[in-house]
Amino acid sequence: KVSSQAAAVRTTCPYCGVGCGVIATPDGTGGAGIAGDTAHPANFGRLCSKGSALGETLGLENRLLHPHVDGVRASWESALGTVAGAFRRTAEKHGPDAIAFYLSGQLLTEDYYVANKLAKGFIGTPHVDTNSRLCMSSAVAAHRRAFGSDTVPGCYEDLDEADVIVLVGSNTAWCHPILFRRMVDARTARGTRLIVVDPRRTETAEEADLFLGLRPGTDSALFSGLLVHLDRVGACDARFVADHTSGYDGALERARAIAPTPAATAAATGLSEADVSAFFDLFAGTKRVVTAFSQGANQSAQGTDKGNAIINCHLATGRIGQPGAGPFSLTGQPNAMGGREVGGLANMLAAHMHFAPEEVDKVRRFWNAPNLITGEGMKAVALFDAIARGKIKALWVMGTNPLVSMPQADVIKDALKGLDLLVVSEVMADSDTASATAKKTVLLPALAWGEKDGTVTNSERRITRQRRFLKAPGEARPDWAVLADVGRRLGHGAAFGFTSAAAVFRQHAALSAFENNGTRDFDIGALADIGDAAYETNLPVQWPLTKRGGTKARLFSDGRFFTFDKRARFVAVQAPALAQATSETMPFVLNTGRVRDHWHTMTRTGKSQRLSAHRPVPFVQVHPRDATAANLAEGGLARVSTAHGAAELEVIVTEAVAPGTLFMPMHWNDSNASMARVGALVRGVPDPLSGQPELKATPAAIAAA
Ligand code: SF4
Repeated sequence: KVSSQAAAVRTTCPYCGVGCGVIATPDGTGGAGIAGDTAHPANFGRLCSKGSALGETLGLENRLLHPHVDGVRASWESALGTVAGAFRRTAEKHGPDAIAFYLSGQLLTEDYYVANKLAKGFIGTPHVDTNSRLCMSSAVAAHRRAFGSDTVPGCYEDLDEADVIVLVGSNTAWCHPILFRRMVDARTARGTRLIVVDPRRTETAEEADLFLGLRPGTDSALFSGLLVHLDRVGACDARFVADHTSGYDGALERARAIAPTPAATAAATGLSEADVSAFFDLFAGTKRVVTAFSQGANQSAQGTDKGNAIINCHLATGRIGQPGAGPFSLTGQPNAMGGREVGGLANMLAAHMHFAPEEVDKVRRFWNAPNLITGEGMKAVALFDAIARGKIKALWVMGTNPLVSMPQADVIKDALKGLDLLVVSEVMADSDTASATAKKTVLLPALAWGEKDGTVTNSERRITRQRRFLKAPGEARPDWAVLADVGRRLGHGAAFGFTSAAAVFRQHAALSAFENNGTRDFDIGALADIGDAAYETNLPVQWPLTKRGGTKARLFSDGRFFTFDKRARFVAVQAPALAQATSETMPFVLNTGRVRDHWHTMTRTGKSQRLSAHRPVPFVQVHPRDATAANLAEGGLARVSTAHGAAELEVIVTEAVAPGTLFMPMHWNDSNASMARVGALVRGVPDPLSGQPELKATPAAIAAA
């Protein structure tokens, strides 16, 4: 328990979806000592390099401290008056759907909730999407197809209790380091074997008992082959399949067409038949298997199918919702899950509701919303395309840096110039997006980690507090309060009278419980009347809570899913095919991803010299064979080009990448390196179901710079 008088404050790391508990001890001069929270069930006191360096990123250097309108410092009154006035005029002239919001998995649930309420209920625009679209929306779509809901079935304890852990498209050692340590601990404690499926021999792969370095984009072939194998050797749970699922025969037939034998699977994936068979035998012969998948699977034009190909194998064996067994989506961002809960994605409404007429009606009545939307809005890639085509006239970007992170980032940079209004809620004054301009540009200073208060939800559905332990700098304000202020200025005072983050949270929780008594034993309304004191002290808590007063660590353990008939669905997946083929002029497949010590576009981790020292400059990994052919030397400079842009990067010659492939990190931006924004190089063909763009396989060329 942490009281407001306590020097040490219990909070949550703002980086990855592991959601580690942090104890911050302010030093009275704007800094803080940082330690892991030994009582937090995500990390039990451990922190990775990024988390432990949080104290080094707290300074006010380059912070945005005051509102600005068209580059000139302005009062909040003037800045928000400009925003509200422009929104009103835009809605009158072009309709409310000419207004869009682009949000972030960095936002707190309370910020996310108010943004959604304002946009979808009161302005009346469906065009609210988030950078979580780039992170895990394919996993969301796969969950919904298989389970009837966007539900992560398992929990972190499953990683402790598994006998085999399969990591698909996940450099867990660098991207979810504390979970990876749990996996390594499990190996020590119970001999858990690690299988890594990744086109790149990552640091995680170096630790694997079996590394499957498959060809880019062929994950579905591997898991189709596995499904066929499980069926052939009798490893399926026929009773579970018969009693709790549907669609098995169709999925199996499709899988047989894609990868009928281990030899065919090997041919489809580029793996050796011996490795394929070793994987199949381990999976088939082990009851406690967790398959954890992450951005390598999700960030794909076929990301949803990849998720379902994995889930199919767990449904076929009944290994879901059981201790040490299940498919597990590792979310990238600290609050991707919280954003999903409040409807932060364009294809959701709120409280995990979609657009069935009764759901729309329910949200309309709960919010007393005059302009509630009735259908989906545009997902991120389509949204920015619409900006480029002039369909969107006003855009509010909160807590994200799309000019670095979005595919075709340079096209987006130009597109924003045509907006009548660009509003950017930001922490840093010099981020690429804060530096963008439109016909009217409003910059709003946001609170950073350590200054803001609210909740986030981690990868295992655990709702945790981020708590304030520093004073708000300059004129920075909470995002939820700024959004509510605009709501009041638009004439909706009764709906936006929030006075605290706790009040916002209560309303969000009450919406979940509105005309919803829960299913079976779930107490959906448990947090709807949480008092201010309990909001301070009773979190973290894993969602959902049960009517018996506990929490539900694992879902679907009774074989009942959230579909209308309570059966899970097998999905017949498509044969793998890259969205963009290589060519004579673009013969390489460019892969992208994280490095260990930087987070997203480096606006925070870039402040720490210690973190920056790990990988001080942007780089491209090239296989030795290709380096020789292109006359590239280790440490030299290479120019990587695609149909969309070019970058100049330091060369690392390594067998970690396969011949014909390149790897480039995603973090660098225009404020700390020229020509290194990976977003400018990738096209980002979206998955047709999830809208998540392909970021892992762009045709590219490389030459000495
Ligand atoms: Fe933070 Fe993730 Fe590291 Fe935990 S594993 S300390 S949440 S970055």
